[in-house]
Amino acid sequence: MFEDKWYTASGSERWRQPGKIGTLELPHRLLMGSMHLGLEASSEHLPRLIAFYVERVRGQAALIITGGVAVSREGSSHRMFCLLEEEHAAMLQKLAGAVHEAGGRIAMQLFHSGRYAHSAETGEAAVAPSPVASRLTGEMPRELSVEDILHLVGRYAAAAVKARQLGYDAIEIMGSEGYLLNQFLSPLTNHREDDYGGSAEKRRKFPLDVVKGIRAAVGSDFPIIFRMSGVDLMAGSTTLEETYDLAVALEEAGVDALNIGVGWHESTVPTVAAVVPRAAFSPIVAAIRQHVQVPVIAANRMNVPEAFQPLFESGQVDFVAAARPWLADAEFGRKVLEGRRSQMNVCIACNQSCLDHTLVRPLIPASCLVNPRAGFEAERPLSKADVALRVAVLGGGPAGLEAARVAALRGHAVTLFEAAAELGGQFRYAARIPDKEEFYETLRYYRVMLAELGVDVRLETEPTAADLQGFQSILVATGVRPHIPDLPGTELPHVRTYVDILTQGFADAQEIVLVGAGGIACDVAKYITERVRPNAAVNQFLTEIGAPLTSVHRPNVTMVARSKRVASGVGRTTRWIVRSELTASGVRILTECRPVEIVPGGLRVQGQGVTEATLIGADLVVLCTGQRPQQAVLQELGDDPRVLCIGGARDSAGLTAARAIREGFDAAYRLGQETAEDGQAV
Ligand code: SF4
Repeated sequence: MFEDKWYTASGSERWRQPGKIGTLELPHRLLMGSMHLGLEASSEHLPRLIAFYVERVRGQAALIITGGVAVSREGSSHRMFCLLEEEHAAMLQKLAGAVHEAGGRIAMQLFHSGRYAHSAETGEAAVAPSPVASRLTGEMPRELSVEDILHLVGRYAAAAVKARQLGYDAIEIMGSEGYLLNQFLSPLTNHREDDYGGSAEKRRKFPLDVVKGIRAAVGSDFPIIFRMSGVDLMAGSTTLEETYDLAVALEEAGVDALNIGVGWHESTVPTVAAVVPRAAFSPIVAAIRQHVQVPVIAANRMNVPEAFQPLFESGQVDFVAAARPWLADAEFGRKVLEGRRSQMNVCIACNQSCLDHTLVRPLIPASCLVNPRAGFEAERPLSKADVALRVAVLGGGPAGLEAARVAALRGHAVTLFEAAAELGGQFRYAARIPDKEEFYETLRYYRVMLAELGVDVRLETEPTAADLQGFQSILVATGVRPHIPDLPGTELPHVRTYVDILTQGFADAQEIVLVGAGGIACDVAKYITERVRPNAAVNQFLTEIGAPLTSVHRPNVTMVARSKRVASGVGRTTRWIVRSELTASGVRILTECRPVEIVPGGLRVQGQGVTEATLIGADLVVLCTGQRPQQAVLQELGDDPRVLCIGGARDSAGLTAARAIREGFDAAYRLGQETAEDGQAV
């Protein structure tokens, strides 16, 4: 979808131009937004955190904004820096020093969770403007007294002073996404009747007092960014007019820039997932900018230059603070500035190795599905291998593509054999799912990088053992094939696999039953139910020209799940979106329902919710029953010591693209490294 529309930089774009936030001079307009990596507050992980930031400085982040740094313990979170801890302050100082040494600039984000804090993690009760239970934690927070509020104003000011002492170039005050300051602003969570609640003006008092307190403490020359909520996406919360008033009041209170956040963690509206169009929330940013003179910063789904190019050209934003795109590509800024669009490893908004890691407990440090080196820069420098080898990679799916790229990057001579006529493997199927088109970006990235790195790509080629004789290492990444369950009737003509549907469509089938309810079945259900719908742009065009909007009959889709769970295997941050989409599109879901037999005209099932051996009528039965490794080539190669099997070809159980790519990276990275024990290349 995006493959052939490469953006090329002309050299005159506004994001190339130097900018200023208060007294802080920045070389261009591409910032790295705040991200909690799960590497914070740990002396063991500090080298990894430093390496991660330093590499983004080298990748041309004009300013790095740290993950949240708690101003007090009760507002903290697991693995979060807290400025009350001297050990943490020392680590933060080293971090700032390393960023400066690399030639970068760094702002500290001052953070307080408020009622989003987990008392089990902070050791203290969560606090909030009013005792309104948090849907995120299930906990009832303690209402802050006026004395508590005044104390917190002082804490913020002391934290800002400390940030400056530790060498930070600026601070960002976290006031969005439903955290403490945002909680004071919203009538949903602020029920106070004193000076800090009631009217919008009173609800603004605490955040404004925080800004004024900080400004008074740090002086007029220390840059203050305020991350404010452009829209809470919570019914009954702050109005747009109140948001504009807040922006004006923040400017008057002394902030130097406004960074616009969107949505609360309790909101049921997606804000960062792939279903959100690129730059979807930019009109809110642009509207706020019309009310203030200070620079305004946009974030959320700004993963490619085309997303923010029009915003800069039309003067709607002053800076962009993408976050996840810097995880996906440490050189995000450099590649945008140099117009190297085709080389960009684009964030596909999957959340699978970033937010799905840092929001689970126990927390897993963030990395990136399309860039498994993210977070491991210290351990995995991009140097040449000790010994250059001739490497064959069998299979051009996610694991094979990454293995070929990394092996070539490390100096090996790489040949990639792919049996199909195109590269991509499972990625090619995933990219066909509505709202997963960003996977085409990943395919484009690999195609471009393999060509640049000189990988010899041989399509429609399945090498024999004889063909592989000249290689010193063979990585088998032949992927997976659909699993055909042991179920009577799978040979009938109306039975298809998920691959058949995603490659050949479903013709005019009207009653479709999906066997299985995991991530693949959910994808296939979405593919079928959305395939027959004209897209929004087409609908808008037809409306504008006055053409009648006809409706097309959609097939009825039934999903048969053996267990109670639907969409298992889909990450925590997107599972709820998948489930709500299934409901909205009218997919019938039968849980705890066991397929017994496929018969002409349908599928017989047994289980809860249906009587014994009930027939579900269907003119198409789709097997979404998992995958099995494709290992035929291994039988031919036997126990050849040159062979290493990776990705789905090694193990298909619980296979994810993240695991496949990581295995490709790890296997290729180890090639040609001399071991300490015997000095032999591996
Ligand atoms: Fe983006 Fe997915 Fe990587 Fe997160 S894991 S940074 S969402 S591509």
